[in-house]
Amino acid sequence: MAVVGGGIAGLTAALRLDLLGHDVEVIEAEGTLGGRFGLDKLGDRRVMTGGKNIGRQYHTFRWFTSELGSDVYESFGYNASRIKDGKVLTLDSERRSQTLRNIRRMGSSRDFARMAGMAARIRADRRNRFLGSRYFSGVSRKHDHTPLSEFFGPEMTDMLVRPMVIRNNGAEPGEVYPGTFGTNIAMLMDHYDQLSGGIQPVLEAFAKRVPVRLNSAVEGLEIRDGKVTGLRISEEGAEAKSSDYDGVVLATPAYATAEIVRSARPALARRLSDVNYFPSTVVLVEYDRDMFTHDVRALAMDDGPCSNAGSYGQEDRHIVRYTYSGREGRLTDLSAENIDRLTGETEERLVKYLGAPRAERVNRLVKHWKAAYSGYLPYHAEFLAEVRRSVTDIAGLELAGDYIQGVSIEACARTGRAAAGRLATHLGSPGNHA
Ligand SMILES: Cc1cc2nc3c(=O)[nH]c(=O)nc-3n(C[C@H](O)[C@H](O)[C@H](O)COP(=O)(O)OP(=O)(O)OC[C@H]3O[C@@H](n4cnc5c(N)ncnc54)[C@H](O)[C@@H]3O)c2cc1C
Repeated sequence: MAVVGGGIAGLTAALRLDLLGHDVEVIEAEGTLGGRFGLDKLGDRRVMTGGKNIGRQYHTFRWFTSELGSDVYESFGYNASRIKDGKVLTLDSERRSQTLRNIRRMGSSRDFARMAGMAARIRADRRNRFLGSRYFSGVSRKHDHTPLSEFFGPEMTDMLVRPMVIRNNGAEPGEVYPGTFGTNIAMLMDHYDQLSGGIQPVLEAFAKRVPVRLNSAVEGLEIRDGKVTGLRISEEGAEAKSSDYDGVVLATPAYATAEIVRSARPALARRLSDVNYFPSTVVLVEYDRDMFTHDVRALAMDDGPCSNAGSYGQEDRHIVRYTYSGREGRLTDLSAENIDRLTGETEERLVKYLGAPRAERVNRLVKHWKAAYSGYLPYHAEFLAEVRRSVTDIAGLELAGDYIQGVSIEACARTGRAAAGRLATHLGSPGNHA
């Protein structure tokens, strides 16, 4: 079996297939595993420039790390402050009633009722945390003719909806639709931890267990008589060659999956290309002293390119992670001068609003993600059903990734695990498929 993509969706798929006794290898275009965990270095320190907050509700991801024996977590919390009428309003997953009071002050009672109604559905049924649930498919049919910016009033949109979709989708409220908003509310309702040692030890344990082909880009899918027979793979940029496989999981973002299936299934490729993705730039700066306090560890901003400045860890408050996303944060000038200027502007705000000290920058790292997050599609549930129908026609093919259940690490992990389970069921026990 082949799993294409070494992000969390692919890693989870491959681990499950391995546990079920199948011969599986991961094929990854880049030189490292991890995908949008974004492994990198800040000075001598290994850091993550992508996803790193792990919710208490992330059961599949926690299963994955515990299988690999590397699952020590430390609390991080969801803590983001907003400025309203000169006052700092803090939304904190550990202080639910204060957070609820703050949300109530953020919009009309109709908007609060809409938000609370969705939250109640999510609390009552875990499936509503993910894309394609029955309840949110109904919301989609009824409301996806307009984006979130028209579903909620302007105050709620500005104060709460915008920071949520910018943070989770890199998108503006006018670019995301009500039928997918459950994934965002679910993120707000969780409590977050981080892996104490980062993701690197998990990836090392994985690579000891499952064969991995790095620097290998999959260019096409080979199908004969309606059944997957192999992949065309270009290693280290060389001309693509065929490799035979009995089964394939494509655990890649929708636009990359579209390219892989394009020659074999052009209509499916066109549909997959419809899924929206938005960019983001993450700048990590290490200072010579703490920039945040324990109680206020992130500032969400809506009037400039930097949408969020937050401490790297609950105890790593001398490292600040600046996220540029949303329309104004789609940076095109990544020169050192421009990044310095933007960082300086945000530092001024941290000083003004949070009383941060004037600190010296010690190290800096800039990571630009061209397609950081999926923002899905209007009527996304219908899109998913269509894609599912096309894939069911191709024996030995399964899809996983951020556009299927949502962008959270947990949602991606669930799609990988589920895809592996379906593939294993379809192909039967190892050895039965010649
Ligand atoms: C800045 C940032 C912060 C985030 N923060 C959080 C967070 O705190 N918590 C959270 O839950 N989520 C967070 N997310 C979201 C989450 O990290 C991602 O949605 C998730 O990691 C995506 O995993 P994936 O496996 O679907 O895709 P990826 O991680 O993108 O993996 C896909 C892999 O496929 C490879 N690939 C693509 N095309 C090919 C090909 N043709 N051949 C071979 N390989 C190919 C890519 O190189 C990549 O490694 C964040 C995302 C970003 C960008």
